[in-house]
Amino acid sequence: MEFSSKLLENAVREMSQLPGIGKRTALRLVLHLLRQPSEQTERLVLALHHLRNDVKYCRNCHNISDTELCEICASPKRDESLVCVVEDIRDVMAIENTSQYQGLYHVLGGKISPLDGVGPNNLNISTLIDKVKAGKVREVIFALSSTMEGDTTNFYIYKQIAPYGVATSTIARGIAVGDELEYADEITLGRSILHRIPFENSLKG
Ligand SMILES: [Zn+2]
Repeated sequence: MEFSSKLLENAVREMSQLPGIGKRTALRLVLHLLRQPSEQTERLVLALHHLRNDVKYCRNCHNISDTELCEICASPKRDESLVCVVEDIRDVMAIENTSQYQGLYHVLGGKISPLDGVGPNNLNISTLIDKVKAGKVREVIFALSSTMEGDTTNFYIYKQIAPYGVATSTIARGIAVGDELEYADEITLGRSILHRIPFENSLKG
């Protein structure tokens, strides 16, 4: 792609670093921003700047939060003896949308994926094991997407926490293998949380 302006070229190059954004889409977005009032672009830049600099992660569940303890963990209405293990905030949002779950979450920040260089130590796993060791958790619910990485991660955590006698379950899927949690419709996802099955049963399939 030949550019008549270095400024334009730089903006397009940075924009095209985003996932799913090719050079052509990047150019369209950048030209769109140029046509908008400059305050619009400044608001975008400022929002990203604040996000980058001020973002916090809940000290209990590791979810993205504006406060040290997120709203879910801080709520007296939630059952802290139930912990639902998810990959990231999108899963928390999807499950919260179902209004069927009253426990807390534990956000791993990814899945074990040796090919991508992601091992257990790169994820928020040790804090989950600490919670179970502390004896405050009655049940750990696995809600990772049913991909090979998701299954590997579930099994790794299961092995680590099983000695502590905590109940483990996995959400019953009405969704095809490999489907990401965030794309499941609310009713299906809500049902699958209510009708979760013991984790051991999921290993026999
Ligand atoms: Zn939290």
